[in-house]
Amino acid sequence: MRILVIEDEPKTAAFLQKGLTENGFIVNLAHNGQDGVHLATTIHHDLIILDVTLPKLDGWSVLTEIRQHNKKIPVLFLSARDEIQARVKGLSLGADDYLIKPFSFLELLARIHSLLRRSQAHVQEPPILRIADLEIDVHKHKATRNSQRLDLTPKEFALLSLLARHQGQLLSRTLIAEQVWDMNFDSDTNVVDVAVRRLRSKLDDPFAKKLIHTIRGVGYVLEDR
Ligand code: CA
Repeated sequence: MRILVIEDEPKTAAFLQKGLTENGFIVNLAHNGQDGVHLATTIHHDLIILDVTLPKLDGWSVLTEIRQHNKKIPVLFLSARDEIQARVKGLSLGADDYLIKPFSFLELLARIHSLLRRSQAHVQEPPILRIADLEIDVHKHKATRNSQRLDLTPKEFALLSLLARHQGQLLSRTLIAEQVWDMNFDSDTNVVDVAVRRLRSKLDDPFAKKLIHTIRGVGYVLEDR
């Protein structure tokens, strides 16, 4: 995850760079608005932290230019101005969140993670997953093969979606148990085998082409072979 920090105060910039790097982010720094716009529009970042008062180009103008170029990247505003107007202005220009200085690093980190989760959810969850003639509508909880609706229970649908999101990847029974049942089935991954067997009876048995493949002793993979 790459974060762009646009901040002119050396101390705050250094503090942000150190803290974010320690938390596993790659950090690019810009010390004025112009450099900030340049970096934001030439390098891919996952999130931008933007100070309001900046030399050369202020935070409002930077945000406006960034939004013309990229409507989706999460932007977190930083400001010393504890004013409702500043906050409203930032949000109306398209900032996603707002933090007033001085702020705690833990709070900043929590906001960053929440913004990234929101934006990643859009990226990683295309509404329709397709493998061969299988189509899964994640939002409508509907799966079809060859345009025939599959009558799945909620758990079967969750299992199928998990396999489909990782198509071509081997998923262990343990991982499947954790993800689908939100539990740890250390000793009894038999639950997974039973669920997969039921899913297969609906997904694969009526069709010539089989999509779920067993990797003996390890787990399962959904793949168009
Ligand atoms: Ca500043």
